[in-house]
Amino acid sequence: MQHIINKTIASVLPLVTLGEQRLSILIFHRVLASYDFMRPGEITAKEFDQKMQLIAKYFTPLPLLEAVERLKNGTLPQRAICVTFDDGYRDNAEVAYPILKKHNIPATFFVASGFLDGGRMWNDTVIETVRNCQDKELSLIDLGLGTFLTGTEQAKEKSAQTIIQQIKHLPQNERDQKVAGISSYAKGLPNDLMMDSVQVKNMAEQGVSIGGHTVTHPILATLTAKKAEQEIRQGKQELESITQQAITEFAYPNGKPGQDYLPEHVDIIKKLGFKLAVSTQWGVSNSNSDIYQLNRFTPWDKGESKFLARLVNNLRHVS
Ligand SMILES: [Zn+2]
Repeated sequence: MQHIINKTIASVLPLVTLGEQRLSILIFHRVLASYDFMRPGEITAKEFDQKMQLIAKYFTPLPLLEAVERLKNGTLPQRAICVTFDDGYRDNAEVAYPILKKHNIPATFFVASGFLDGGRMWNDTVIETVRNCQDKELSLIDLGLGTFLTGTEQAKEKSAQTIIQQIKHLPQNERDQKVAGISSYAKGLPNDLMMDSVQVKNMAEQGVSIGGHTVTHPILATLTAKKAEQEIRQGKQELESITQQAITEFAYPNGKPGQDYLPEHVDIIKKLGFKLAVSTQWGVSNSNSDIYQLNRFTPWDKGESKFLARLVNNLRHVS
């Protein structure tokens, strides 16, 4: 039955696009080896495996650069789809990559170079500090943030997310100060959340695309043009020295156009010699799309048919 439903949904695909070329680009961050109560929304290896199996069966997965070139020269196949990952989490190499290989699905990994080899993103520092907490509550009143319940797994998860929301939009140095203060309550935090250089190098050698994602993952729109260019350029150079390959694809950190990045950053990307860039604006791309601001989306549904239906529905949204 499931198979018939899936097949029916997939069969509407060409009707939805009326024969026009449309490119779906998926965005993932982490693929957890197993369920983590601190990250209930993140996809697990088992779920990712199921999704990739469906994609391999009903879609035409392509490397991102090839797909964009074919979109421009009019040779993109029906049901074209690309898989991308942002940030450079270690589970991308250890959990996601073997699954992608199994299903023969190409991918681009956008890596923030400054976190390689033992670094940690600020939101993970908050999550791991709260996880680490042994008491029933964590007082962050001295940091101007209030007191947070940490007695149960559920409470810890909720508290971490509340703290993240509270400090997310602060200026970067102010937020970093808060995070440093929060982390002082933890006894030892993990330093193996992100990939190391050798993993990036190995994947690149095996034909996986590595893309730029700046050094420290700042919101570009909050930086001076000079600082933004330096973040993008240095991230590119560091990845090129690790992979010994040209880095030609870029993902804007956070990625909402007009909010997280501005037209001036698109110009920087072009100037630095990137061949394409992706945002986090939901939808798909067609031959009129700006290849320096390609849409991406995450089909979050857990059921097979819903997942496929979401992919089909998304094909209607071209910006
Ligand atoms: Zn990112």
